[in-house]
Amino acid sequence: MIQKWKQQPVFYERVERLGLHGLHFQHVTLCERRAWMYLNNINFAQWYDRVQLGTAKHRTSYSRDKSVNGLMGLSPDRIDWQERIVYENKGTAGAAEASDNQTAFYAVMLSIATGKDWRAFISILSNRRNREVKIDSNRLDRLLWASERLEILSQINTVPVVPAIPLCSKCSLANFCGYS
Ligand code: SF4
Repeated sequence: MIQKWKQQPVFYERVERLGLHGLHFQHVTLCERRAWMYLNNINFAQWYDRVQLGTAKHRTSYSRDKSVNGLMGLSPDRIDWQERIVYENKGTAGAAEASDNQTAFYAVMLSIATGKDWRAFISILSNRRNREVKIDSNRLDRLLWASERLEILSQINTVPVVPAIPLCSKCSLANFCGYS
């Protein structure tokens, strides 16, 4: 599937040129303002207790796996090199589409780099289950669209105007946005 993806060169060139990685794809799926802040290295997460708690849980439950040592520019949580599977750990099953795009991004980039198709799974910490993220034409279209949005956002010089969404109450940028 990924090897026959006609948009692969366009996608790869954009990712390389803009220096995109998995969290860009997660953020842009959740909120374009959040993605813009991330593109501009503006991050208040270290002052936000929910993020601190989530990071601590993540570190405690899943120390960084040796399988990802040496990976340049990609940061999934675990890789099965033999079966060509990439795993991303998440505390809960929430924000599924954003997690799917992030995890699929790693699998797509590894597929491009190795010339062989990779699969993507999300490991959910709260129930210890793995969920596969299908890399089909629909997912590839979504990743391409997300990369296009990130390119547009990277060219904007002011904070984009976005409506408040349910996520705002849990977002580390809520005080900045005034949407808490
Ligand atoms: S508070 Fe809401 S609008 Fe602001 S960055 Fe977070 S999710 Fe986006």
